[in-house]
Amino acid sequence: MDLEQKAERKESLWRRTWQPFFNLSVYGKFVLVLTSFLLGFILIGLHNLYFISLLKAKLTGMSSDSAVETVQGVLNATDAYMQNGAFLVAAIMIFLTITSFLCVRMLVEMLQDMTSGLQSVRRSTGDLENCQTVARIPIISKDEIGLVASEVNGIISDIQDISRFRRIIEADETTNDVYKRLAYVFQERLGLTTFVIWEINKADDTIEAVFTQPPDFESEICQMSTANLCRANRTGEMVSSTGYPGICPIFPLPDEMTHSCVPMMVGGEILGVVQFLFLYVNSAEREEHFKNSLRRARQYLNEALPVLHAKRLAQNLHQMAIRDTLTGLYNRRFLEGNINPLIAGIQRRESSMAILMADMDYFKKVNDEYGHESGDMVLKALSHILQNAVRASDLVIRYGGEEFMILLVDCHPKEFANQVAEKIRSKVEAHQFRIEGGTLRKTLSIGISEFPGDTAAFWESVKYADVALYRAKEEGRNQVVRFEPDMWTGEDY
Ligand code: GH3
Ligand code: MG
Ligand code: MG
Repeated sequence: MDLEQKAERKESLWRRTWQPFFNLSVYGKFVLVLTSFLLGFILIGLHNLYFISLLKAKLTGMSSDSAVETVQGVLNATDAYMQNGAFLVAAIMIFLTITSFLCVRMLVEMLQDMTSGLQSVRRSTGDLENCQTVARIPIISKDEIGLVASEVNGIISDIQDISRFRRIIEADETTNDVYKRLAYVFQERLGLTTFVIWEINKADDTIEAVFTQPPDFESEICQMSTANLCRANRTGEMVSSTGYPGICPIFPLPDEMTHSCVPMMVGGEILGVVQFLFLYVNSAEREEHFKNSLRRARQYLNEALPVLHAKRLAQNLHQMAIRDTLTGLYNRRFLEGNINPLIAGIQRRESSMAILMADMDYFKKVNDEYGHESGDMVLKALSHILQNAVRASDLVIRYGGEEFMILLVDCHPKEFANQVAEKIRSKVEAHQFRIEGGTLRKTLSIGISEFPGDTAAFWESVKYADVALYRAKEEGRNQVVRFEPDMWTGEDY
């Protein structure tokens, strides 16, 4: 056994022996030491009283000589006892001094540990690696000092958890990733089992549930679509039905659950609302647990807010760059930025893609006869028709003024493109377009080409679809024309 092991065993033996003492509260320790001190003195006093009573019994009925002898003997014995008493008192004083010293040393060590722990956390703010390595304060006793130490440990661990959380969400790509991460923390770390994360879009006053836990709860709770109906959104304050049942008149389950709705507010703007739900249970302990979890959930939310705000701004900017503001459809810039992976996917799957070029017939007349506003209304309505006529995996792009491109991805069989184009054409023909002060009817011409069936160069097939569209216009408009090689008489693309 080496020296280190010996010292460790000695230390653990010392710990085990003194553990019951450490487990007492500081007040208990003080009372114990004082009691033992008093007990010592009482024992000495009792011993002296006993001795005096013995002496009294001996002196009664003695001759004067033998009494003097006895008194002398007593004086000698008293001397000896005084010496022993002085030793005893000295021993008690030493015991008291050592005990007080140990207590003070423990307290000082604990305070030093706390200070260095807190200093390390302060110094390492923003530095994830260092923040995670801050050591916990060892908890030796279970008294008030031990409690303070464990509270400080709790604070350090909370700061570490939250700083780790912030670093992780900063590296997340989208707001949805951040919502998922928040939901994980609510569930796994804070034990919150039922909640909905709502996202608010101020521009069009909409509110949408972006995360529901448990997922099958969505149909019961997520019935709101107008943001202004949400009290937490309107007031910017937490809305809790605990103690105020019926505070939110639109809450769908007032008889089964309480709700606490926390607005996600940053810089005066509300990004969304997190709605925490709690089944009615008559248990003060569970209520306390819920309150604590809610408090910690709000800390995590506060940490997530600036990150969510920045990500939403970035997403909006990106959307503005790739979407057409009038119709909300993708624009040509989006096509240019995303066509390469799309082509690569088609080639890898050995699939094909139909390219539809659609152009409204005599659209200029709408502007000329009814004004630009009416022209815009027609374009918006047309974009809805186009978007609703194709699958979610297909792409509808506003290619230019009133010219739209539709990419039918993985288009099999070939006739499918013609069927879709014909469906769109007839829908437009049948549609009553609303304009300022009335309605009107318009028609659409569509040209189709196929990639890579017509050509292995994507932009060449776009040109071919345009050529087919031109032919449709030439042949009387309001029709679908499939590109044929003999339509292209120009130079190689
Ligand atoms: P054609 O049948 O040959 O396609 O005739 P057209 O009148 O539709 O063709 P042309 O390309 O000459 O006219 C397109 C018009 O679309 C011209 C332009 O003023 C209008 N336009 C383009 N973008 C917008 C827009 O965002 N809003 C409105 N209101 N009009 C637009
Ligand atoms: Mg046109
Ligand atoms: Mg045109």
